[in-house]
Amino acid sequence: MKNDIANKLEAIIETAIDGIITISDKGVVETMNRAAAEIFQHESKEVIGRNIKMLMPEPDRSQHDDYLHRYKKTRNPKIIGIGRDVIGLKKDGTHFPFRLAVSEVFLNDRIIYTGVVHDLTDVSLAHAKLKKANDVLEHKVEERTEELEKAINELLKSNKQLAIREEDLKGALEKEKELNELKSRFVSMASHEFRTPLSTIMSSAAILSRYTDTEQQIKREKHIIRIKSSVTNLTGILNDFLSLSKLEEGKVDLSLEELNIEDLCETIHQELEGLLKPNQKISHLAIGAVKSITTVKRILKNVLFNLISNAVKYSESGDQIKCKIHYNHDNVIIDINDEGIGIPKNEQKYLFERFFRASNSETIQGTGLGLHIVKQYLERLHGSITFESSEGEGSTFTIKLPYK
Ligand code: ADP
Repeated sequence: MKNDIANKLEAIIETAIDGIITISDKGVVETMNRAAAEIFQHESKEVIGRNIKMLMPEPDRSQHDDYLHRYKKTRNPKIIGIGRDVIGLKKDGTHFPFRLAVSEVFLNDRIIYTGVVHDLTDVSLAHAKLKKANDVLEHKVEERTEELEKAINELLKSNKQLAIREEDLKGALEKEKELNELKSRFVSMASHEFRTPLSTIMSSAAILSRYTDTEQQIKREKHIIRIKSSVTNLTGILNDFLSLSKLEEGKVDLSLEELNIEDLCETIHQELEGLLKPNQKISHLAIGAVKSITTVKRILKNVLFNLISNAVKYSESGDQIKCKIHYNHDNVIIDINDEGIGIPKNEQKYLFERFFRASNSETIQGTGLGLHIVKQYLERLHGSITFESSEGEGSTFTIKLPYK
């Protein structure tokens, strides 16, 4: 009966799927089942009778004797009764992971230890595969996230660009609207302002055709002057409009040249000769060492022409118009002073606005564009304009320009 049980137990142990090894309390292998032999690639007879540490790689191999010794003294187990994952050494020298569960077996006269060896090679391979798959997956996720981020950034960027384009288009549309409004305002203003000079030209031409005698030359001269000044007037209006259009469209030609301001004033005085009222006089005076200035000649001429012709236009017969040119260290400062109608105090703040005309100048021809253009032109030249005026006494416009 006893033999039967022993045989049965032996058969169970021998055929168990996990490896089963028993050792003495000195670590000498006493039994090794088939599975254990297969796992360690040994034949059991090669192992039985030898120390179990032959199945262990370093550092366990050198420490195992000590371990058994210490356990016997302290009863403080590291594996016995606990079980743990360790590394085994196969016959061919390769290492492999396995789970080791050790139990202490008390026989009549001695103690032995039974180790159950569960090969973890497959599990470990599966783990490694899983980890690799996981790593690949993580890498892919990172890659995709990066791609997604890129795509989102691109999207945001093109969105931004679209918004900017929309803003640009809106701006351009606004500008176009403004320009159209400006043009229609100009057309209505021009059709009004053109009437007087045109009818002057018409009537003077009609009268001229009647003065056929040689001795009527003086009368002829008078009408020729009228025609000339009406044409200057019309040209002025057209020039203002062209300047404004160019400014609004940002198409101002800014090519620089060196010039002498007094020469420029002289030219303007001559061009304005025909517009002077009886006994009106324009004079100019230079203060400081004369210096030439590098600027946009056409623009500066337009600025000075506008200011001096206003001084002529808004003052009476016999009034003086004085231009003073101060040559300072960094800037040239030009004052244009008249003794004319002046600008009402409460309207002065609108002076540089488009189409603004003061209430005291309604009977005098004008477009209300000149000063607006002057201010913008001076900004382009890095200059500035200020003025002082009192109604009925006169005005002084002061412009400041850098030499370069
Ligand atoms: P315009 O002379 O064609 O009306 P400006 O823009 O040159 O246009 O001037 C705007 C307004 O400023 C004028 O209508 C006038 O009322 C006032 N103004 C300009 N210059 C003078 C000046 N020297 N004296 C008095 N008023 C002036």
